[in-house]
Amino acid sequence: MVKNTQAPGAGWHFDNSYSRLPELFYTKLHAGPVSAPKLIIFNEEVAKTLGLQAQVLKSDEGVAVLAGNDVPEGAEPLAQAYAGHQFGYFNRLGDGRALLLGEQITPSGERFDIQLKGSGRTPYSRGGDGRAALGPMLREYIISEAMHGLGIPTTRSLAVVATGEDILRETVLPGAILTRVAASHIRVGTFQYAANWGKHGEIRELADYVLQRHFPDIAGSADRYLQLFREVVRRQASLIAKWQLVGFIHGVMNTDNMAISGETIDYGPCAFMDTYDPGTVFSSIDADGRYAFGNQPQIAGWNLARLAETLLPLLHENPEEAVNIAQDAISEYPDLFRGHWLDGMRAKLGLFNQEEQDGDLIESLLATMQKHQADYTNTFLDLTFNRKDSSGLHGSSEFIEWHERWQARLQRQQEPWEASRELMKRSNPAVIPRNHRVEEALDAAVEEADYSVMEELLHALRNPYAHSEEQAEYATVPPSSKMPYQTFCGT
Ligand code: AMP
Ligand code: MG
Repeated sequence: MVKNTQAPGAGWHFDNSYSRLPELFYTKLHAGPVSAPKLIIFNEEVAKTLGLQAQVLKSDEGVAVLAGNDVPEGAEPLAQAYAGHQFGYFNRLGDGRALLLGEQITPSGERFDIQLKGSGRTPYSRGGDGRAALGPMLREYIISEAMHGLGIPTTRSLAVVATGEDILRETVLPGAILTRVAASHIRVGTFQYAANWGKHGEIRELADYVLQRHFPDIAGSADRYLQLFREVVRRQASLIAKWQLVGFIHGVMNTDNMAISGETIDYGPCAFMDTYDPGTVFSSIDADGRYAFGNQPQIAGWNLARLAETLLPLLHENPEEAVNIAQDAISEYPDLFRGHWLDGMRAKLGLFNQEEQDGDLIESLLATMQKHQADYTNTFLDLTFNRKDSSGLHGSSEFIEWHERWQARLQRQQEPWEASRELMKRSNPAVIPRNHRVEEALDAAVEEADYSVMEELLHALRNPYAHSEEQAEYATVPPSSKMPYQTFCGT
């Protein structure tokens, strides 16, 4: 039995709008209790934004809530139902190991989902145990916080609690629960679920709900469903451009892992690229490279087309007309993406204005980096700080030629080099969560209960554009023996 001592004074202020949707969309249930919850890491900054009292949440009563052993006042835990194309194959899914506690209303009136990930079995668990391991949950904590520091829309991490229970994967691993904070957990796959299994216009109810919750400005307009779709397209175009600009590889861009809010969600086998190569794949389960770095923009377009299909009945009563409307809207995606990406790349190169040949200038740098196996992040840092070394890239005639072309391009704008450098410092991170540093932090945490390596890493990642001395150490590339690196689904 779940107790209900509620950690009074924690600052919970729930309003659970999702639970007022038709029951098709969820199953209400409580988490299975865990034996010995222990707080591993807690995010004071996120707690503050949410209007939560860190001291109360870090107490035994608070940790009981973060472990799913206790339900805070006003919460109505539920597992969400959804579907998704996983590596191109359509499946009926749902929260198999997560529970939405409810929607926290912050002191400034914002609404955030509070979700426990790894909280036990649900009706959507299929063959799984509903649990999560400590390593992958800390990994999600680190990477999501790093993404936030980089200025990329993302779900946040409030806490990780070890459950005190072992879980069985390839080996026995310590179990853990991550408290995830999101604008919402509504995915492309939620729409696919409503379109496929709704019988009474649930797709319209979902679309109306999403309009109210995420796009209130357009909720009243006559063509609101088209506008909803176009807004999701815009947000994804902007989001994926941001990923590409920092070398982030999501790893499992299934339609159930694409949030309607435009936040990055579900950090499983994700990783940041060291050496520049568009074919980079880290995930052990992505044998065909469907979700390789260079494929991400196009895959997002594919996922958006799946979303458009679910909205067809809402776009026009005539099915052919509806398809035309949807196709028109989705055809804007490639140019939107390209526009964001070019803008971001110009900033990385210190360019304020636009020239026709900029795309070519950028692509020729990338091709040269690929040929000489240059580190993606550090190449841009070297340009920012005018550093030259004896690496293959810097010594190559292609790069020397490119550098002259870039210098000439900089001369053709009004701003002085100092202004360009400042723009480049704001646009080129000094530190990314490199795989070998993340692994080192996780090893210390999981194997030795030493959390200091992780805390230091998180500190360096908080403001990646500071270019502090402490951060210089994190720019070191991994020894070549650490590559190629493989990540495993966060199971
Ligand atoms: P993911 O690839 O992490 O996005 O998960 C895909 C689906 O598998 C989702 O429906 C998850 O809830 C479910 N899932 C992942 N791991 C487990 C687990 N250990 N037990 C039950 N369901 C799981
Ligand atoms: Mg998922």
